[in-house]
Formats: sequence, structure tokens, C-alpha cells
Amino acid sequence: MILNNSTMNISKLLAFDKAHIWHPYTSTLDPLPVFPVVRAEGVRIRLADGRELIDGMSSWWAAIHGYNHPVLNAAIEAQLRQMSHIMFGGLTHEPAVSLVSKLLPILPPSMDKVFLADSGSVAVEVAMKMAIQYWQSCGKKKKIHFATIRSGYHGDTWHAMSVCDPVTGMHSLFQGALPVQYFLPQPPVRFHDAWDEAAIRPLEELLQAHASDIAALILEPIVQGAGGMYFYSPQYLVEAHRLCREYDVLLIFDEIATGFGRTGKLFAWEWAQVEPDIICVGKALTGGYMTLSAVATTQPIADQICAGEAGCFMHGPTFMGNPLACAVASASISLLLSHDWQGTIQRIEAQLRAELAPAAELPSVREVRVLGAIGVIEMKEPVDMAQLQQRFVGAGIWVRPFGRLVYVMPPYIIRPDELNYLTTHLIKSL
Ligand SMILES: *Cc1c(COP(=O)(O)O)cnc(C)c1O
Repeated sequence: MILNNSTMNISKLLAFDKAHIWHPYTSTLDPLPVFPVVRAEGVRIRLADGRELIDGMSSWWAAIHGYNHPVLNAAIEAQLRQMSHIMFGGLTHEPAVSLVSKLLPILPPSMDKVFLADSGSVAVEVAMKMAIQYWQSCGKKKKIHFATIRSGYHGDTWHAMSVCDPVTGMHSLFQGALPVQYFLPQPPVRFHDAWDEAAIRPLEELLQAHASDIAALILEPIVQGAGGMYFYSPQYLVEAHRLCREYDVLLIFDEIATGFGRTGKLFAWEWAQVEPDIICVGKALTGGYMTLSAVATTQPIADQICAGEAGCFMHGPTFMGNPLACAVASASISLLLSHDWQGTIQRIEAQLRAELAPAAELPSVREVRVLGAIGVIEMKEPVDMAQLQQRFVGAGIWVRPFGRLVYVMPPYIIRPDELNYLTTHLIKSL
């Protein structure tokens, strides 16, 4: 079926979609409505019926430079003429080398070995496998469990799912099938609040009792994304880092959502200045063009993994190091670093703070919070997503709430007048 602007074809397209295509977290019995989109450019998303929406989502943290960016388009087009894909086993290429050479200098200084993976969830699987292979190689074969904090989100694949929040995640559904992990309370001290020693005690107690069977602590530094859009104290990371060292547990930072400037630092670990043993990046890595993720670790950890029984790290996806994805990721990093991205995020943060504040007065709103280019309106009750989405689209904005959370994380290229349109119509629609 070919998409064009005739109403007849749009209704056919929607009917086919409804009949045969699964969307994220959607029922086939009663699918949530979807809007056909034909084009996106800058911060504007054009629907098939001609309406234009200002994007508040960056396509789930990814499209930081907006859509259809000439520099990213040029990078991918140039690579397409050379080769769109080639296997990474036994071969290498300039796009992968260029990408990793740009990535390493912006990751924590001790990171030295990079594994290119397919998506965020796969990056988390890879990081967890690295941790287990590391301890196996150290002769500590009991260290096969993971610790994490509640309200986290690490992806939808098997082991990633096992470290997602046990209540809002999928634990009850998959009970008995998922590996059992250790859950700590969500860090109780908020990002801007004064540190309280008591906040780290649960981790200390857990490690005292169980460090001998824990491979790693995995968490999203500073900002918990899809698990609750919650911002917590950098000091938690400082203390967690100290305890992991003390008890011989690896520390994994999942920066898939927080990476590439979103929180106001290039990566969220910088707020605490403590380095993880393994870091995962994804989402905005390709500027939102394609799926690609990367897992980085230190040389000693990589070497220890490879000194073990297997003699190598046991992972190698078919589309590993895809040249198109690497080329566009490499261009996206250069583009980000060539601008005053920090000034841009600070401007967006100040504007979000000022313009979302009035929402706190609404009777249905529990709290408004802003960090970097992330603005969150937490409601008292879960929203009716289908109804609210319709209202947002009617108002000319693209915002997709979940549960009690209505949030925006616009592309960094959004102009002040466009951001003002987004926040104004967001609050009006609520
Ligand atoms: C989105 C996300 C993932 C999963 O990434 P996918 O590309 O959707 O598999 C993992 N961790 C965090 C923190 C995320 O935000």
C-alpha cells in the first residue's frame, strides 16, 4: 500500500494498521488510536491530513537535532553510496572507527573498549553479560545476580526486563520466568535536596549480606526515565560507587536516556564525577535516525573477560557496527559538539522552568519538575492517554503521556517561540 494524501488511502492505511500491526504496548483487541505521519522536519511533524505538530518527545529521547537534518542526511547518504551494511566479523570500516574515536573522549575517562550493539535493550543485555563473564573469569562463579533501584527502566528484553521496576515493570506477568534480582528503594533524596546518609543504607545492607552473589549494580544515573521521570541526588551515585568498590561489585550506568546532553551534562555521571565500570548509551546516539547502541568498559575488565574460559566476549549480532548507523551517529556527535549545546540546554531548562511552573497550580497536578531539557508534569491520577493525546494533537503539539506522567523533552533545536507554543498548549490541554 502506498501512502499519499488522499483521504481514501489514509482510511485504508489506518484500517490495515489496526488489523495487522502491533504498536508499542498496544492491545490488538482495542488498539489505541494512531495518527498517520507523512513527514517530519526540524521540530515539526506533519500528519497525513496536513496538520503540523510541534514535537515535544524527540521520538523518545532520540531526535536531539530534530528531523530531516541536512548534515545527518548528508552523512547517511554518503555512506549509503559506499555500503549500507557489511558484516563486522573479520571486517572493519571507517564509520565504526570514526564513531568510536569520537565516543571514547566524551565517555568516562577510564572507558577503553566499546561494543556496538543493536538497541538500548541489547546494550543492557550486553553489559549484564560482560559483568557475569568478568566474575566467571575471576573464578567467582556465584556472582550471577544483579542489584538495582526501584522505578528503573532498562528495556524490554529478558534480563533488561528483570531489572526494571518490579511493580510498574513486567515482573508480576512473567513471575517465575524472570531471573530474580535484588531491588533497593528508589533513592529518596531528590536532585536538588540536601543529602541524607540514611538514603544509602539499604544498598550497604544488601551488599553486606549478598555481595558474594551479586555481579553488578545497574542504574540510570540521576534521571530515572520511563520508570517514573524522577531526578535524584548525585551523592547517591558517589556513595554507590564507593560501596561497589568496597564490596567488589561492578557498577553499570545505563545512560541510554540521559546521554548526549539531555540532563545538562553531556552524560549524567558527570553530575557525580564517579565513573562506572560499564556504561550503556543508545537512543540519541544516532541523533534519532537509526537504532544503535554502544557499551563501553575499561581495559582491565575487558581483558579479564577475555582471559576467561570462553577466551572472548560471547556476543556478536548480525548487524553489529552497521555502517549507516555508525556514519550518522558519528555525524550527530560532531554536530552536537560543534554547537554551544550547554548554553542551548540551559536556555531550554530556564524556559521549561518558567513556563511549566503555572501547571503546578492546576488541581489535577501533583508536581512539576525540570532538569536540563526534560520537563515533567506529574498528575494526581493516571491520564486517559487516548483522550489526552487527541487533545494534544488538536492543539498542534506532539506529547505522549504515560500513567500519571505528562512530560516533554524537545529536540535541542527548538526555538523559544516554538517551545513557548509547546508549553502553553500543553498546559491549556491539561
Ligand atoms: C529506552 C531505554 C532502554 C531500552 O532501549 P531500546 O532501544 O528501546 O531497547 C534501556 N534503558 C533506558 C534507560 C532507556 O531509556
